[in-house]
Amino acid sequence: MLDTDPRSRRVVVPGVRWLRFPRRLEGEYRNYQSQQAVEAFRVNAFYILLLYMLLITGIYALAPEQIRGWWLSAYIWEGPIVLVAGLLAQIRVLDRYFPYYAGVGCFLAVALAVAIPGFMSDPRAILLAHVSIIYALVIIYAMVGLRFTVAMIAGWTGGLVGVLIAEGLGQGLDWQVLHGTYTGISLVGMFLCYSAEVRDRLLFFNQRQLRRQQRHSQALAERLHRLSREDSLTGLANRRFFDEAFDREWRRCKRSQQPLTVMLVDVDRFKAYNDGYGHLQGDSCLQKLAAELHRYSRRAGDLVARFGGEEFALLYPETDELEAQQLASRLCRSVRSLAIPHADSPEMNEVTVSVGVATMIPNQRHSAGDLLEAADQALYLVKQGGRDNWRLYEAPPAAGQL
Ligand code: GH3
Ligand code: MG
Ligand code: MG
Repeated sequence: MLDTDPRSRRVVVPGVRWLRFPRRLEGEYRNYQSQQAVEAFRVNAFYILLLYMLLITGIYALAPEQIRGWWLSAYIWEGPIVLVAGLLAQIRVLDRYFPYYAGVGCFLAVALAVAIPGFMSDPRAILLAHVSIIYALVIIYAMVGLRFTVAMIAGWTGGLVGVLIAEGLGQGLDWQVLHGTYTGISLVGMFLCYSAEVRDRLLFFNQRQLRRQQRHSQALAERLHRLSREDSLTGLANRRFFDEAFDREWRRCKRSQQPLTVMLVDVDRFKAYNDGYGHLQGDSCLQKLAAELHRYSRRAGDLVARFGGEEFALLYPETDELEAQQLASRLCRSVRSLAIPHADSPEMNEVTVSVGVATMIPNQRHSAGDLLEAADQALYLVKQGGRDNWRLYEAPPAAGQL
């Protein structure tokens, strides 16, 4: 999309000088431009109308007495053109038609301004009529907000029609004066309008690039953030994220004096599974188990993480022993119901898990590490007891709670 001129190191945007971006971008620009223009015109129409009224009263005062009436009846028509365009601009559903109605309005205004001197005979009146041509052109090229091409078409076709009317129906035009006013100001107006559009296109392009870059870096940052928290094999939270969440929930439950439950889930005889089915199949087994365990995070704050190897850790804030036991029991059953064959397991023929559960209301005497240790001890006892089961940590009588 971008070309960089190596000598000047200037970024060259295609289509700016020719006022035409590549197709899709051009459509985007036109929508943007016309929206900006109509929003500005909603206010500018008022100033244009004011300018027109100043002009008409000024010229009316200067005009020779005998042509005043005629002069006014001709020029009065410029007013409704601006008024109608200004009113249409207030109707937001018509915003996308702005270049059309504003273009037609400009065409009519120029045609009228150019035709009028052709119907005048007083040289002073003709001169004043040419002044109003200058005003009309300045307005259409610099104040309406039309794109260069539209303004140019409106300006030149309006002029042509005005000339045809003046030559065909009136007494003809003074070409020398007309070149000094109409042609000269049209060229200056075109130049100004062209330069403004080039600047506007560059601004549009740069803003668009900036927005794209922002979106891109935002997506990248989000991806990085996710990767830093995610276990790549299972898509669950990783150990680091678990540690952070555990620490946070520990402190939260300590403040609110709510029970916090942690579970350690270890796949039974997984070394044998790997040996029998291969490491890849082992990976796929871990993924299936992870997907199943993931269903066990029910509420905001619950967390299922891969703790390492074939171990998972589950965190349940505001969950007491009773709920914890129900969850652990359901979890063991869920894993069994997956019915993943494990021919090398001496106890079962399917993949099973052992779950160590520990619950406590965090207090000053213990740390989050103690709770994890308790869950690990419970897990150890399950393994000792033959696996495929769960167990809640029970503190020895002397140790009090936990
Ligand atoms: P136990 O029932 O006592 O837990 O026995 P076990 O065989 O599951 O326990 P052990 O700790 O001896 O073996 C764990 C195995 O898990 C060893 C290792 O190859 C396997 N393992 C750890 N991480 C991965 C992994 O990411 N992918 C695969 N396929 N295997 C893994
Ligand atoms: Mg293990
Ligand atoms: Mg194991």
